[in-house]
Amino acid sequence: MAKTLSPVCKLCRREGEKLYLKGERCFTPKCAFEKRSFAPGQHGKTSGRGGRASSTGQSDFARQLRAKQKARRVYGVLERQFRRYYETALGRRGLTGLNLLQILESRLDNVIFRLGFASSRSQARMLVTHGHFTVNGRRTDVPSMLLKEGDEIAVRDGSAKLTYFKDLPAFAEKRTSPAWLSRDLKKMAGNVSRFPERMEIDGSLNEQLIVEYYSRR
Ligand code: SF4
Repeated sequence: MAKTLSPVCKLCRREGEKLYLKGERCFTPKCAFEKRSFAPGQHGKTSGRGGRASSTGQSDFARQLRAKQKARRVYGVLERQFRRYYETALGRRGLTGLNLLQILESRLDNVIFRLGFASSRSQARMLVTHGHFTVNGRRTDVPSMLLKEGDEIAVRDGSAKLTYFKDLPAFAEKRTSPAWLSRDLKKMAGNVSRFPERMEIDGSLNEQLIVEYYSRR
């Protein structure tokens, strides 16, 4: 499975904001961004990239690039795959930016995270890779699988006896799940009722800038 190799917290520092990539830790004082909110590297404090003051004085291209990089990092997607998603979004009817966000939201790892079955997308990715989930009754180890309306996700029977999954209903109960997904915590299962509306997706993502980024290339 392809994955980003940068230390995760550096990605937040690079973007100049918390991206919440490490689950519960992001909400504690241990969060690296709380201690060092400037961009990583020798010139991080003065480079104007990633620091809290970085949004000022940026060129259009820089803002488009940052919007794209942020979305890529939030969803944990590499550049080549992200571009493929954009091209798929472009080929669909409707708004390309919204199509792109819906594709990203429909990834299996994201859906498991949104259902509250993992504390972060990276943890969800790991759980899928280890074969702990089924989609429509079939085991899968592909976190990038794109789900469709009506697809059912469940913890595999053989995995349900593991301590993590025994404790999961109690943990998941504390996490809210969006209206476009339905879940049954007793069965440790969920269902994609529909694709999310724009207002149900992270409002800090700027899909228009991402579309502009790819349109100029
Ligand atoms: Fe980002 Fe979370 Fe690391 Fe804080 S702990 S820097 S929010 S990934």
